Amino acid sequence: MTATPRVCRFCNDPITDLEGAVFLWHEPGLNGSGWDVYAHTARTHQAKPPLVPLLPLARIRAREADQQ
Ligand SMILES: [Zn+2]
Repeated sequence: MTATPRVCRFCNDPITDLEGAVFLWHEPGLNGSGWDVYAHTARTHQAKPPLVPLLPLARIRAREADQQ
């Protein structure tokens, strides 16, 4: 089993040097395990970690509310 290649969240270039990258957050995958999201360190000022992961969660909560 090969490791999932890390790709920069912002420029989509592969990250080969972890010294120049930063872990942003973990995204759950449709098939269970999900993946870690990385970005080049120089781009992290563009990251907005609290916003992106909360959007799918809000949709799930809305669906649950509809079913009650
Ligand atoms: Zn990049």
